[in-house]
Amino acid sequence: MTTSSSILEFVACLLILSAYATWAYADSIPDDFRQCIDGKISPQAPLPPSCYTPNNSAFSVVLQSRGLNLRYLMPSVRKPEVILMPTHESHVQAAVMCAKKLGIQLRVRSGGHDYDGVSYASEMEEPFVILDMAKLRMVAVDIEEKSAWVEAGATIVFTVGKTLEQGLTKIVDKWQHIADKINENLFIRVIFQNSKTQKGDKTVLGLFNALFLGGADELLKVMQHDFPELGLGKSEVSEISWIESVLYIAGYPSGTKPEVLLQGKPLFVNYFKAKSDFLREPIPQSGLAGLWKSYMEDENALMIWNPYGGVMSNIPESQIPFPHRNGTICMIQYVVTWQDGNTSETRHIEWIRKLHSYMASYVSKSPREAYVNYRDLDLGMNKDGNTGFIKASAWGNMYYKNNFDRLVKIKTKFDPCNFFRHEQSIPPLPVTDINVDIHGDMLEG
Ligand SMILES: Cc1cc2nc3c(=O)[nH]c(=O)nc-3n(C[C@H](O)[C@H](O)[C@H](O)COP(=O)(O)OP(=O)(O)OC[C@H]3O[C@@H](n4cnc5c(N)ncnc54)[C@H](O)[C@@H]3O)c2cc1C
Repeated sequence: MTTSSSILEFVACLLILSAYATWAYADSIPDDFRQCIDGKISPQAPLPPSCYTPNNSAFSVVLQSRGLNLRYLMPSVRKPEVILMPTHESHVQAAVMCAKKLGIQLRVRSGGHDYDGVSYASEMEEPFVILDMAKLRMVAVDIEEKSAWVEAGATIVFTVGKTLEQGLTKIVDKWQHIADKINENLFIRVIFQNSKTQKGDKTVLGLFNALFLGGADELLKVMQHDFPELGLGKSEVSEISWIESVLYIAGYPSGTKPEVLLQGKPLFVNYFKAKSDFLREPIPQSGLAGLWKSYMEDENALMIWNPYGGVMSNIPESQIPFPHRNGTICMIQYVVTWQDGNTSETRHIEWIRKLHSYMASYVSKSPREAYVNYRDLDLGMNKDGNTGFIKASAWGNMYYKNNFDRLVKIKTKFDPCNFFRHEQSIPPLPVTDINVDIHGDMLEG
């Protein structure tokens, strides 16, 4: 890229950014956006897109239909000007072109599972529209290429609960040493909940929730050899089909039919805040004792430790953007939920921040890693649609480690004006003559 084309690109970006500012004061956005879309609809599309504005009675229902964190649906949160549901890929192209032409921010929503709501809410200072992909649901399975298949072999599942009084600390200590190294067909995660002893005192309950691809006798041999501390007995395991194990791990009540998965209805819709960590060294028992103490301070706490190892470790860190690979014992997810809107929000959020800060000395460092799927806006935010590389590195390095720099180069090449953006999107470099290929590698010349 030459210097003059870089300057032209920079000026074009400035013009687009100034258009955003103008539109912040316009109130005709829904009509103008709709008109623009109508003018671009392809005759090949069998059905028109559905378009909802705040004047439609269905607007709120559609907005809330796939917004899983109720914090981002509260009345005080900025709402979109339009929700557009394409029924054909040409509608997606039209939405991108119209949002760009009118200088409106576009948010793309699929399942609406984003933890900090960036697919259906915006904390940035601009009007926005939602491009809601709910009606683009076709799944193509290539039988000849075998690009999607599931084997139906036996699956064993079990859940064993242990409280502090039943030796939870020592069992978790042992789990940390074997979770990522045990038989590759065995996955044992730990779900922590607050509980009460028989006397009514507070305690922590650890649920060892597992899935094994194989038979019961083989599982018991593995457990006896590598994890006898859990004391798993034959009566505690169940042999079920793979699809039933999906329902089990997702937390559906026993006996639920697999067809429930076709409804696409979320099980978990709450006011919540979550954070994540990656563990590379076992936490000593003294550290665990402090963790339990902090944990019991919030009655609605939930914590899930997902073991790594296996195939997760075999893939090199630089192969895809997800970098948390070899040497990771487990990922820790901290969650707190509440039901009373913003009444108790501050207390719960302060609690989860304090817990996260307590864990700093035990988890991964330089960078302290975090899981992008458990989005956490506490780690930093783009402001006003425009954040520099240095600031964005704060969360970028935590989510992507060394892959962040490559993602920035790719972003700079394909979206130099930062059209596709949200609170934690990858920033482009401001003016650049860096030439990169699609893998983010530097090209000669
Ligand atoms: C109850 C619950 C359970 C979860 N469990 C797990 C879990 O077990 N493991 C795990 O890894 N994660 C889990 N997550 C996190 C979830 O996988 C991530 O938040 C994921 O990004 C959600 O994708 P989505 O399409 O549903 O979300 P959305 O909120 O629709 O989108 C998430 C992000 O992707 C963008 N996006 C969506 N569609 C497109 C598109 N077509 N093109 C370009 N960008 C797009 C959005 O703009 C947004 O930035 C869970 C979330 C919830 C709420």
